[in-house]
Amino acid sequence: MAVERTLSIIKPDAVAKNVVGQIIARFENAGLQVVAAKMVHLSQEQAEGFYAEHKERPFFGDLVAFMTSGPVVVQVLEGENAILTNRDLMGATNPKEAAEGTIRRDFAESIDANAVHGSDSAASAEREVAYFFNADEICPRG
Ligand code: GDP
Ligand code: MG
Repeated sequence: MAVERTLSIIKPDAVAKNVVGQIIARFENAGLQVVAAKMVHLSQEQAEGFYAEHKERPFFGDLVAFMTSGPVVVQVLEGENAILTNRDLMGATNPKEAAEGTIRRDFAESIDANAVHGSDSAASAEREVAYFFNADEICPRG
């Protein structure tokens, strides 16, 4: 295993529910560190660019509308095996299929309002971290 960085977004539904701290506690309890963080209300352009890989999918318009519906908390998580660890903590995309004890099972309502985003590979983590953060905004604690 190697120390990795991954991009996490706490989506508008979870911010509106006031469970930002509860979600971050799950990352910390799993050994991940928050090494960069900001709250932002995404513009249409920012959300479309971030989810460009889904541009042709039928749900793209709904996804962009949802992600711009309120503020999100964007973070870089660092730790051993961070990408897969975060995906395991998140649970399945559809909260109805997410395992017990996962973030989506506990905090999400539906496949579109599903509480969190997490990078799904090393390549997407690299792109997604750079999409939101400059190098000097990331503060590794060693
Ligand atoms: P993730 O990596 O688990 O977040 O899932 P994907 O990368 O496949 O999809 C990105 C996001 O698009 C998901 O988190 C959902 O918010 C949304 N999404 C995926 N599939 C559907 C769908 O079938 N319908 C709707 N409305 N949204 C979807
Ligand atoms: Mg994805």
